[in-house]
Parts: sequence; C-alpha cells; structure tokens
Amino acid sequence: MAALDGLPPLREVIARHGLDALKALGQNFILDLNLTQKVARTAGPLEDATVIEIGPGPGGLTRAILALGASRVIAVERDRRCLPALAEIADHYPGRLQVIEGDALKIDVATLVDDGPVHIIANLPYNVGTQLLVNWLTPPRWPPFYRSMTLMFQREVALRIIAGAGDDHYGRLGVLAGWRSRARIAFDVPPQAFTPPPKVTSSVVHLEPVAEPIDCAVERLEKVTQAAFGQRRKMLRQSLKPLGGEALLARAGIDPQRRAETLTVGEFCRLANLL
Ligand code: SAM
Repeated sequence: MAALDGLPPLREVIARHGLDALKALGQNFILDLNLTQKVARTAGPLEDATVIEIGPGPGGLTRAILALGASRVIAVERDRRCLPALAEIADHYPGRLQVIEGDALKIDVATLVDDGPVHIIANLPYNVGTQLLVNWLTPPRWPPFYRSMTLMFQREVALRIIAGAGDDHYGRLGVLAGWRSRARIAFDVPPQAFTPPPKVTSSVVHLEPVAEPIDCAVERLEKVTQAAFGQRRKMLRQSLKPLGGEALLARAGIDPQRRAETLTVGEFCRLANLL
C-alpha cells in the first residue's frame, strides 16, 4: 500500500534499493512516516521554508519535510547507495529536493542557502552529530544562517545539550548551547522506532539561536570550559591554573573554591573575556 504522500512505503524502498543499514555510517532508519512528521513539525511551520537535512538515508524524514510544505530541501548524504531512492522523491516533488552527495563535516551548508527562513532538521548519525552541532553553534557570523535546528541525538547527548549550571550533564556542550541558543528536548524516541534499533533511547532537541548572545570569543570560551570541565571534580583555582588560576578568578569576582559545574554561562563568558 502506498503511503499518504503517494510514494511507496519505506520498507519497500529499502528492500528495492538494497539499503542494508551500515553501522559505520550511524544508519538507524525511521520507517514510520507519522513519526518523521512529528519530528519535522517540531521545527514549526515549514511552508515556504528552506530546510537543510543531514543524512536523509532512504528519505523518511525528507518526505515528511516536503509533505509539510517546505519549498526547498537541501539534503547532504554520504552513502551513495541512497541516491537512487532520494532521486525518486525528487521526481515526486519537482524542483524542491536537492541532494548533495558528501560528508556533512566537510560541507559548509551556510553557503548553499539563499534568502528566506532556513531550518536545519536531521536524524543525525551518532558519530558526527555533536561535531555538526558545535559547528552550527560557532559560525563566523552571528546571528547564524538558520532560524532553528531540530535534531535527533542519543538521549545522553541531548541531556548534555540542554544542561545548565548545577545539572549532572552540564559541560562544554551545555555552555556552548546555553550561550548561543535556547535548547529544549521536544520528545524522546524509543529504540524500537528505528530499523535497526540502536541500544539507547534518542531525543529530538529543538534549538533556536538567541539574537544577541553575551559578547565573547568562541576560542576563549572553549579554552576556559575545556580547562574547567577537564578536571570537573577539582576546584576552579586548581583546574584553571594554566589560565591564571586564582588571579583570573579574583578579577572575575568568582570564588576560587567553586567547581566548574556550578558556573553559569555568563560567568564562563566573563572568565573568557578576561583571558
Ligand atoms: N534520515 C534518515 C532517517 O531518519 O531514517 C536516516 C538517519 S540515519 C540515523 C543517519 C544518516 O546519515 C544515514 O543515512 C547515513 O548514511 C548518513 N551519514 C552518516 N555520516 C554522514 C556524514 N558524515 N555526512 C552526511 N551524511 C552522513
């Protein structure tokens, strides 16, 4: 039976194109189009929007994004075996889907978009997901080229992204995401929703960039968070010793006996600006 968009069911697409999931490429496919629609809807209204999708695979999420009215989808896929399946979707939605074969870590997607609202939506491969998020949070220009990011991660990573001061999962990723975005977990997705099922639960994270983050250089912020969280159980006067230790903390007005996980994003920025 054809799916609601008139294209064949994903199970059939996968069988016909021989898309056995490859672990090395983080391939855990979602075959339920109701679930992919739920992920895509989390981004907000998509009519007339451009969507960047990383890792479309057999195209379940791509189809949902197109069915919800995105005027243009630019999808970057590393596995060339998926290209014929994606070409069928492109034929079904003429002029709206552009597939780029390549490694998303090596492609600057900001250069691919024109004017108009851009959203990033992806069920990310687990092995490159965090790096892609860091790249999108630290582009040379701010505000960035996108209006929102709706991204599937392993739940453990999602918790690190949304964590703030005092949370167990708070670390470098939480500081970066908290500095430049408002991030929340939209919903969890159990392992059995994927083919093949991964070992852990996943979460869809929705991030919106803040227009005016605290003024601070990314490299310095990274330097401070790396030193502070590199020895997260130690007091800051010890972990920040290579960057100035007690003297730096005194200038920032921060108690040297505190530990990294108690510092707010604002305090990390203050330290970074004093380096
Ligand atoms: N979007 C599909 C879905 O939701 O069913 C597939 C998601 S699967 C978790 C991740 C996809 O990313 C796979 O199709 C994989 O081939 C692709 N991929 C892995 N590494 C990549 C990379 N570096 N650049 C682009 N795509 C990549």
